[in-house]
Amino acid sequence: MAIQKTKRDFPLDRIRNIGIIAHIDAGKTTTTERILFYTGRTYKIGDIDEGTTTTDWMEQEKERGITIVSAAITTFWTPKSGSFKDAEIRINLIDTPGHVDFTAEVERSLRVLDGGVIVLDSASGVQSQTETVWRQANKYKVPLIAFANKMDVVGADFHGTIQSARDRLGANAVAYNLPIGKENDFRGVIDLLTKKAFIWEGSETGADFKEADIPADMTSDVDKYRDKLVEEISGTDDVLMEKYLGGEEISVEDLKKALRRAVIDNKIVPVLAGSSLRNKGVQPMLDSVVEYLPSPQDITSITGKNPSNPEEEIVINNGDKEAPMAALAFKIQVDPHVGKLTYIRVYAGTLKSGTYVYNVNKQIKERVGRLLLMHANDREEIDEAYAGEIVAAVGLKDTITGNTLCDEGNPVVLESISFPEPVISLAIEPKTKSDQEKLGLALGRLSEEDPTFRVKSDHETGQTIIAGMGELQLEVLVDRMKREFKVEANVGQPQVAYKETITKEARGEGKYIRQTGGRGQYGHCLLKIEPLPRGQGREFVSEIVGGAIPREFIAPIEKGVIEKEDTGILAGYPVTDIKVTVYDGSFHDVDSSEMAFKIAGSLGLSDAAARADMILLEPIMKVEVTTPEEFLGDIIGDLSAKRAQILSSESRGNSKVVIALVPLAEMHGYVTNIRSMSQGRATSYMEADHYEPVPSNITAKIVETSGFTGRVER
Ligand code: GDP
Repeated sequence: MAIQKTKRDFPLDRIRNIGIIAHIDAGKTTTTERILFYTGRTYKIGDIDEGTTTTDWMEQEKERGITIVSAAITTFWTPKSGSFKDAEIRINLIDTPGHVDFTAEVERSLRVLDGGVIVLDSASGVQSQTETVWRQANKYKVPLIAFANKMDVVGADFHGTIQSARDRLGANAVAYNLPIGKENDFRGVIDLLTKKAFIWEGSETGADFKEADIPADMTSDVDKYRDKLVEEISGTDDVLMEKYLGGEEISVEDLKKALRRAVIDNKIVPVLAGSSLRNKGVQPMLDSVVEYLPSPQDITSITGKNPSNPEEEIVINNGDKEAPMAALAFKIQVDPHVGKLTYIRVYAGTLKSGTYVYNVNKQIKERVGRLLLMHANDREEIDEAYAGEIVAAVGLKDTITGNTLCDEGNPVVLESISFPEPVISLAIEPKTKSDQEKLGLALGRLSEEDPTFRVKSDHETGQTIIAGMGELQLEVLVDRMKREFKVEANVGQPQVAYKETITKEARGEGKYIRQTGGRGQYGHCLLKIEPLPRGQGREFVSEIVGGAIPREFIAPIEKGVIEKEDTGILAGYPVTDIKVTVYDGSFHDVDSSEMAFKIAGSLGLSDAAARADMILLEPIMKVEVTTPEEFLGDIIGDLSAKRAQILSSESRGNSKVVIALVPLAEMHGYVTNIRSMSQGRATSYMEADHYEPVPSNITAKIVETSGFTGRVER
């Protein structure tokens, strides 16, 4: 058992729960790795290109060079200057995945962190995916500082990167320090508020950096950008504004205080220059994390809902370790050494090992076996976790991602996290009976970890279908299933998750009457169906008055309707954006049953749908392609052949960037496609954007090949 090293009663203002968020390839992994190195818990600088980084411990993450699983790592940093000079700060680093296929993971980790560092690529500025993570961070009002990474790369442009953050993200991004030199000559940064220059030279790891003189040719730039920063800070504080306008000198201390408030209120995003790969500029960024990002006690408005009355909001005593316990399970991970770990953010109260906690969502009590602080390369057992902390628990059996754990006498549901609907699916056929069993276990485990990943079985074919947000996500899951769970299976091609909907109002009748000898069956209803606006989902209402159908049979009708909506009517895809109203019907004193009304509901919907001009909807992806100019023509031509709507095509640095909306059905294998079209030099990324009607000629083909009759036997 590990020895408890970490002082347990850590003052809340010395905790930072942060995430590093970034576009894939911007340098998140390298930056995280450097942070762990400088904060002293890793002993060798791993190189991402060789696949030895600390956070990416899972096999295929190493192979793919992307971070899939978010882990929380506890580490410590002692700033050498600023408001927390010489104080030990505990930084809990919550790893957020960079690939958009894993958006739900990003959202989930954003939900539990208090602040973030957004890593930008100084050579290519803000890209589409940065916009996505930015929007997500905004949704949860996560205060951010930005790290303009890759200042050593040819074409690096610090101020251009800031400008693109302002233009494309609408962020009030302001230079907080200035890079000294750039590209090959990038060697240090100048802190604008204190006007101190730091140079990284002569030390391979960058652990030793020295204060230096401001290069003579930079003094006017320093004054210019310092003034800009001071003006922005003053703009957020009336007292400082008066001083600023009056030409009075404002103390560095006051500026820092005001900037801290402005960052926490999402008014300013300070931007710092650096190069993680070259080990430059990371330590000042860490100092800024401490100085400007909030501690748990700076976050005041954490609310939950009363589980027995969802209308009632309950304010959590955030950060109060004496208050009733309230915590959120945000991540399940299988650790090769200790088994299933449940990562938990404690908002209020104290979580104790060896005790029972109440899982509100599941309405069960669960025993917390052990509590662990996860460090980069070891884990430390602790007895208690306090409000504001992030820990991993061992022993929780039924708790899944997104569940609230709390004190049974004070139940509360912390905001549930909303997950997008899957857009792609594939079929899995286990090879043997024992594979079938292992498959069940594997899929159960994997969907516990990732709620955007759904599992169902196809009644007609007996196949297991898994669905998710993108090809890569499913590929990774299948890979893990084979490797970690040793399931032998045939895996089908990815299929687009179409949906069905109606285009006009219609009425229909559902009659299920069998009255020949003995006790009969009698269910009868009249339904009206209407299209709902795109994305609204489903609605069911009853307008039955005067007892045409007894009340107890309304729910069975709804059940029948939902079952039919799930199975589909046109081509076997779920029906969406539809409102169903039951407005009349009849019953029989003896023969009516729930079963009969359920069947009547199903029949009624099919009948009405036959008159409502059903269509198919398909997921449309937003696709961004970055390519050298010479391949631009081919790439646009290819996209156009894929029914793409080109939204824009512009220059960014030396590259061309094309943004288009393309049906997912056309994008199978695009990553490989585009590589061969551009000799491996163009890159693409896509995310689900919305659903749109499928053109009728294509619909006809899909309906035909589906072989779906959709009719309920009469
Ligand atoms: P992630 O996908 O955001 O996690 O990015 P990685 O940390 O994996 O970095 C992507 C690639 O960029 C890798 O090949 C890194 O070695 C490289 N890289 C990261 N930071 C820098 C940097 O500061 N300068 C240079 N030149 N390359 C970098």
